[in-house]
Amino acid sequence: MLRNDVSYVKPITVDVGTFLKFEKDFWLGGFNCLVHDLTVNKMDPLNEEDTRMYFYENRIKSFDGWPFDEDCKCTPENMAKAGFIHTPTENSPDVAMCFFCFKELEGWEPEDDPEKEHKSHSPSCHFIALTKTVEELTVEEFFKLQKERHKNIIIKSCNQAIGKFEEAAKSRRAEILKTALEEE
Ligand SMILES: [Zn+2]
Repeated sequence: MLRNDVSYVKPITVDVGTFLKFEKDFWLGGFNCLVHDLTVNKMDPLNEEDTRMYFYENRIKSFDGWPFDEDCKCTPENMAKAGFIHTPTENSPDVAMCFFCFKELEGWEPEDDPEKEHKSHSPSCHFIALTKTVEELTVEEFFKLQKERHKNIIIKSCNQAIGKFEEAAKSRRAEILKTALEEE
């Protein structure tokens, strides 16, 4: 047989396939969520669910149970005006997240000004930089804004998938080391 005959080269795909199958449980869950989010839920620019939080009246509804409501700057009204939605967890009742850039802030003090905090912690957010209300935007301006928000969704989803993969790699590495030490 000639050495350059392609049939001479043994396929290695089986090994790679076995390897991927072995690893997939660790990261495929995260990857599937990412693809689902990007293709099914979020990427239609006029998806009703996706555009809801552009409107103040929908954001303010999320501030049920917000710990600051009187004699302070970070009232639900000011939080919602500055683009925040209330995203509390069991241990952190005062977490708020910008619906647009997805910046999460907690540890609010009564004197914190939501707009100033948003600008200082997320200076590249296109929403907080708007000089007119959403209702005053032209259709073109709105679509351009949606493009930026979708970019933020992709960045966030990819970072989550990377984090998940890194975690899986770390625990797999620890398992390998443990097995190697046991064999010594
Ligand atoms: Zn923002």
